[in-house]
Amino acid sequence: MKAELTSVGIEPTNACNLRCPICNTRTSKRPTGFMDFNLYKQIIDEIQEIPTVTGIALYLGGEPFLHPQFIEMLNYLPKYEERKYNVMVSTNAMLMNDDIMIALIKNQITRLHVSLDGIGKRHEEKRVGSNYDTVVKNMRRLTELKNGRNHYPGTTVNMVISDQEHDEIDEFVNTWIHRVNFVILDALHDNKLKLKNLDLLPQRMIKEQHRTDMCNYPWCYMGILWNGDAMPCCCDLEGHNIIGNVGENGIMEVFNGKKATRFRKMHETNKIPTKHVCKDCEIGRQILNGILSEAFAKEERK
Ligand code: SF4
Ligand code: SF4
Repeated sequence: MKAELTSVGIEPTNACNLRCPICNTRTSKRPTGFMDFNLYKQIIDEIQEIPTVTGIALYLGGEPFLHPQFIEMLNYLPKYEERKYNVMVSTNAMLMNDDIMIALIKNQITRLHVSLDGIGKRHEEKRVGSNYDTVVKNMRRLTELKNGRNHYPGTTVNMVISDQEHDEIDEFVNTWIHRVNFVILDALHDNKLKLKNLDLLPQRMIKEQHRTDMCNYPWCYMGILWNGDAMPCCCDLEGHNIIGNVGENGIMEVFNGKKATRFRKMHETNKIPTKHVCKDCEIGRQILNGILSEAFAKEERK
């Protein structure tokens, strides 16, 4: 398989204002930090020169709006007409103020993903420290601010299916489908990256699920942690699989470098050591997000 970088995840920070039990932010051994703005500029400048990149995500672990220069980060992006890629931001929507929302709109961010795991108290149980009413209020405000400007950012709510019942999932989808552009349901995974509760995902998604023999992230994706360390996927947030540092060597040198090539070879030949984080991981081999892929197909840039 030919390696071609199409997606880049950039981590403004791995700090978070919430304490969700499903998240490794609090237990992570990785130091907490904020991306240096000069490093961010170097990354964005280089991406502009990589013709294969079709999407960047301004998040990885943590809550991006905690970065004190997040608005400047948005403003530093090339103008919509000059960039050839979609830009996604994901948030828990608790820190959205007018300034951030206006920057998202003005810079025509393609998609804002909001993590919402239920309605009312059910969401607050799972996203500890969050407040459902505040999230709803912020989403309404974003819609108000968008009116009369442009339709960006498109909005998505993402629900991680943990212990919700079928009825609860249906109620959630039916409530939110009228308020945002897309509702996405994600399968939960355990700390070995094995997917859980697949039987709770709606039938339509299960039908669209398929497995591949090999994880294909390392051939097309790079995640850049706040300190510039690069990873071949967005799942290993502990940073076990560091393939280089883009601050030191640049994105493409790391992507085509020895460590990345060795990592791909390990997957290709299926010589993954027993205790390696990729050994049991099902995320890269299991495509489940039928709603997600359909959503992106609809929103494809013309
Ligand atoms: S909001 Fe996201 S990053 Fe923050 S604790 Fe929850 S799952 Fe983790
Ligand atoms: S197998 Fe899992 S942890 Fe390994 S690169 Fe793929 S998605 Fe990441």
